[in-house]
Amino acid sequence: MKLYLIYGGKSAEHEVSIKSAYSILQKIYYDHYTVIPVYITREGQWYKAGNVNSKDDIPEVKEMNQIAKKQPFNFIEMMEGESVAFPVLHGPNGEDGTVQGLFEVFDIPYVGAGVLASAVGMDKIISKSVFKEAGLPILPYNEVKLTDWKVDPDKVKDDLIQYLGFPMFVKPANLGSSVGITRVLEETKLKEAIELAFEYDTRIVVEKGVKAREIEVAVLGNEDIHTSVPGELIKHKPFYDYEDKYLNQEVIRQVPSDISDELTKKLRELAARAFHAIDGTGVSRVDFFLTEDGEVYVNEVNTFPGFTNNSMYPRVWAKTGLPYEDLIEEVIQLGIRRHKDRL
Ligand code: ADP
Ligand code: MG
Ligand code: MG
Repeated sequence: MKLYLIYGGKSAEHEVSIKSAYSILQKIYYDHYTVIPVYITREGQWYKAGNVNSKDDIPEVKEMNQIAKKQPFNFIEMMEGESVAFPVLHGPNGEDGTVQGLFEVFDIPYVGAGVLASAVGMDKIISKSVFKEAGLPILPYNEVKLTDWKVDPDKVKDDLIQYLGFPMFVKPANLGSSVGITRVLEETKLKEAIELAFEYDTRIVVEKGVKAREIEVAVLGNEDIHTSVPGELIKHKPFYDYEDKYLNQEVIRQVPSDISDELTKKLRELAARAFHAIDGTGVSRVDFFLTEDGEVYVNEVNTFPGFTNNSMYPRVWAKTGLPYEDLIEEVIQLGIRRHKDRL
């Protein structure tokens, strides 16, 4: 079977995607697949590298995009013979249902969440309303549309201050990896934060800020799902940006997190419910806030979490008893099975 490993992409998370793809390349069972790495440039062009038939064929990480750029990739190729697409893409244009829609239209089996779950998971406003409807605990939030902001910014600010108070978190609705997000402590900084978020999206979400531990649970499966032991992002400051999180590796990931069995059970149940609420299939990482007084809130569901060696998703699975190689094989098989089950 041909496995198209698609990585890079137009989103701000291009770099993380390359790292995830490179880690995955090392873990694939090459007796099952011929791997064709497909690189999407920051401008959105698709290129392919030569086939990888064994671990010996894997290029150096810094060559991953250079090699791929030599040969334009014709999408039609994926419709010939037995193929499966593995989009290792984070953020808009990859994790948000758009690329998944392309595979659906061309009837190509693909790994990871489907169109609906991807789109809902990526949109912080829609996902919150879905969580609320499902009775899941979430923080108070307001949606702000660019049109409303343009008409009366003072009213928007007053409403936010009255309803949420400080600190607030201002976020673009559709993005990830902390891009465009600001923690706002006072009124004088609010305008700037809102305008920054509007650079990335026409809808933004503003949330009540909490002082909380960040616990993450991995979910794996289609109808029949499994949850992992929780892992924790140990922070030394209230908010980590993109560079801290992914490039400087400043965050410590503690696996499993040091919480009670009772709380572990509760978080695993909430993670499964959040996954079902967005119609998840394949993989997702459900992120929680745990406040000092023991309150738990669902922050977000990431339908394609980081897959680097150091990432939480593969690490919590390893601790739960599923080594990285087996995890990758399971994730691929789940994509193939979902496609078969639907026929
Ligand atoms: P992304 O999809 O970019 O990861 P998040 O909603 O997870 O967006 O926000 C990024 C980070 O910002 C979180 O991991 C957390 O550290 C911090 N954060 C976000 N919202 C809040 C909040 N309401 N209270 C406290 N911290 C928050
Ligand atoms: Mg996210
Ligand atoms: Mg997050």
